[in-house]
Amino acid sequence: MAEPAGVTEPAGSHRFLSMLRGALERFYYIPYCAVCDEAVEPPTPSPFVCKNCLSQLPFRMGKEEVSWEGSFPLYATFFYKDVLPGLIVSMKFSERTDRARALAPLMARTIQRQGLTADAIIPVPLHRRRLAERGYNQAAILADFLSKSTGIPVLNSLLIRHLETDRQSEARSVRERKLHMRDVFCLDRTSPLVAGLAGRPVLLLDDVVTTGSTLMEAARPLLAEGLRVTGLVAATGRDRYLGYGEAAQQW
Ligand SMILES: [Zn+2]
Repeated sequence: MAEPAGVTEPAGSHRFLSMLRGALERFYYIPYCAVCDEAVEPPTPSPFVCKNCLSQLPFRMGKEEVSWEGSFPLYATFFYKDVLPGLIVSMKFSERTDRARALAPLMARTIQRQGLTADAIIPVPLHRRRLAERGYNQAAILADFLSKSTGIPVLNSLLIRHLETDRQSEARSVRERKLHMRDVFCLDRTSPLVAGLAGRPVLLLDDVVTTGSTLMEAARPLLAEGLRVTGLVAATGRDRYLGYGEAAQQW
């Protein structure tokens, strides 16, 4: 993160400490697996997941394009099964944002494999009150790490969640939830970006898709503005999981 300009004395000593910390980390830092918390023997295919966990993650081999009712394409890197629910829940509620750092490079491979192109990544926003409560938006953190892996910039300020949905919304029926989500999201009309959006491709990013209603509603104002939206999530339980043997047979 950039140092604020114009700060001299405290920033100088702060910079020295942060350089020292950086040097120590480079020499003595032992990476650990974000899934099992054990030390990782480098090199690994993903720098933050050990080989054992990597081989057990429920990748959506050949099924990254999700079957769903949305009007735009949706991709997911993992099935929402095995260790994924635990990873996602801890990323959301227990400040295990290191898990976003571990998942993002693997999601970047979905972007690459599927040939997805985008001018920006737009994380599904939280309502400002929820954001204040939790202190962070897991989708925005995932977006930042994904941006590091792909070079696609993150657009945080455009899409706003202007209505707060209650926590029980997860338990509602799909129909009730769809009604409930209507007009929850809008665009920041004061943003200078609004003018040049039509036709631009964007990745709308979230951690999980369950019913799909949140992602559909978040996309609504973007689609209305003429943006070409592609959805990307870490995980969804949609489509049938293929075991490794079955998947290998189909290849
Ligand atoms: Zn592990």
